[in-house]
Amino acid sequence: MDNIITIENLTFEYTRGEESDPVKAIDNISLEIERGSFTAIIGKNGSGKSTLAKNLNGLLLPTEGAVYVNGYDTRDDDNIWNVRQTAGMVFQNPDNQLVSAIVEDDVAFGPENLGVDPAEIRRRVDKALEDVNMGQYKKKAPHLLSGGQKQRIAIAGVVAMKPKCIIFDEPTAMLDPKGRGEIMSIIDELHKEGITVILITHFMDEAVRADRVIIMNEGRILLDGTPRQVFRQEELIRSANLDVPLMVEMGAKLRERGIDVPADIITEEKMVEFICQYE
Ligand code: ADP
Ligand code: MG
Repeated sequence: MDNIITIENLTFEYTRGEESDPVKAIDNISLEIERGSFTAIIGKNGSGKSTLAKNLNGLLLPTEGAVYVNGYDTRDDDNIWNVRQTAGMVFQNPDNQLVSAIVEDDVAFGPENLGVDPAEIRRRVDKALEDVNMGQYKKKAPHLLSGGQKQRIAIAGVVAMKPKCIIFDEPTAMLDPKGRGEIMSIIDELHKEGITVILITHFMDEAVRADRVIIMNEGRILLDGTPRQVFRQEELIRSANLDVPLMVEMGAKLRERGIDVPADIITEEKMVEFICQYE
């Protein structure tokens, strides 16, 4: 298997000064992410998702163990630009990610920092804005845009750096349903274009779109598999204080009423197909 990220026995502790005890946010995780894959990570608040994400692009460095991004050890100072360029990050709040007064300058900020030449930057900015359907907003001021549009600009800024992998940390959490839908289609498109996607989310309907779902609990991995493999473990998921996707819940309720819905139905599409055979 060709892995873009390899995590070996990663432990991460936050230290808040001499008096207080360190907080162990990641507890001995080993994990591999295949190049070109789409992985969703879910888990309740405080389970360590954001800490893991920040360890994947060198924003945080392992307390113990190691993280390799495209073969580069994140602990080695000389690798930091290669690591950041390989693995881009999109955060929850678009307001904290936008830095310029004009959309196109904002998108250019990342590639400028990487030392890309001006003509190439202009090409990348145009292409990235097209990718997120924001081409016509090039000259606008980001603060006049909606939350969803701002998040699309933040994504364009990452795309313009040509990362091989993008880690999205709850990118739709602050958006309305329409904005969420648009961001999810863009994520699907980027994945289709070959970018490795890691999506941290608390929306189960977003997680079912991935090839692989990882459930975190208290700094460890509770479940890891295809969406079908993971979401049929209804009891274990509920034990981690998480909901299961609506269609999994519906399947379970229908089975209680004597209707033999297969346990691997986790999407609306498959549920509709199943129900329609009974007409
Ligand atoms: P999640 O993203 O799943 O909500 P986090 O990775 O943000 O989880 O947090 C994991 C644990 O680390 C939590 O117990 C949280 O309180 C703690 N933590 C997160 N950030 C910090 C920080 N900057 N300083 C100290 N503890 C932190
Ligand atoms: Mg988080």
